[in-house]
Amino acid sequence: MRWDNLGHGGPEASGTTAALFGADVVTRTFDTPEFRGITFHEVRARSIINRVPGASRMPFEWTVNPYRGCSHACVYCFARRSHAYLDLDTGIGFDTQIVVKTNADRLLRRELASPHWTGRHIAMGTNVDCYQRAEGRYRLMPGILAALRDFANPFSILTKGTLILRDLDLIRSARAVAEVGISVSVAFLDEELWRAVESGAPAPERRLDVVRTLTEHGIGCGVLMAPVIPFLSDGPDQLRATVRAIAAAGATSVTPLALHLRPGAREWFMAWLDRHHPGLVRHYEALYADGAYAPKWYQRRITRQVHELAAEYGIGPSRPGAHRAVPESERRASEPGAGPTQLTLL
Ligand code: SF4
Repeated sequence: MRWDNLGHGGPEASGTTAALFGADVVTRTFDTPEFRGITFHEVRARSIINRVPGASRMPFEWTVNPYRGCSHACVYCFARRSHAYLDLDTGIGFDTQIVVKTNADRLLRRELASPHWTGRHIAMGTNVDCYQRAEGRYRLMPGILAALRDFANPFSILTKGTLILRDLDLIRSARAVAEVGISVSVAFLDEELWRAVESGAPAPERRLDVVRTLTEHGIGCGVLMAPVIPFLSDGPDQLRATVRAIAAAGATSVTPLALHLRPGAREWFMAWLDRHHPGLVRHYEALYADGAYAPKWYQRRITRQVHELAAEYGIGPSRPGAHRAVPESERRASEPGAGPTQLTLL
């Protein structure tokens, strides 16, 4: 495996290339039902605040990712390709070979204290899920949240993980000193589809419980309705049921994003589609003929439908006590006519 090929010189450094990880890698497996079949590669990262490459259309500039690979194992996950940079497999390897930056919390505290760091917004859960199963064992997020709170640094979290509720108190205390956005990803309610395409992630209903609990504790929470999967989760009744449930859970916003299939995700997803829905393959080839993104007309249609349903069910700023949770830039990106974003589809 290559561990030294994506580094940079620390927060807001430019023009330098440093190794991402140190040489010491400890590989562990745990024979418990929760972690069976998963291998953890414990590494000491050399930097933790990452700048999103300028050419990217991501609606955020700085990220923190304590893990690489994700046991939530979403078939459509665009982050799969990032595993190739470590010479790891982007298919099953992405789901089961998890890199753990064991020093993430201590390193973050050091980088936040750097005179070069100017307190910019930090997005988490934008590459892989920071509340995936590994977090139950390694407990990196409490230290990360405490550091962000202590430096009053604004941040956002996007997750499918119910484990975020473990850190409620830390999130509350961080919100008292900095802008904090929490978003949960729920694209559909269909249990069969969940088991088929998000087999390692908590069920959609459990994720809606997270929204409900956060709301009950006064923490506004948006829902990223992503990915809306063509022909499988985009029927009018499916969209309606999903938005209705999101509204009932108390979400402050709902942001739809249609499935995109970049290299890495595309091969894995299309192979899955061929096995489970062979009749859809030619429809997908037509829909994604021009590249990774569904056509603008499709994106606009989904956005319009979801926004109309959101208005019907009262999701949004008009809801009493509503609080912006999805960053404005992400919301803008979902407006009809906006270009596609490269958010991870947590
Ligand atoms: S889409 Fe998100 S939750 Fe799913 S595997 Fe990728 S990083 Fe994990």
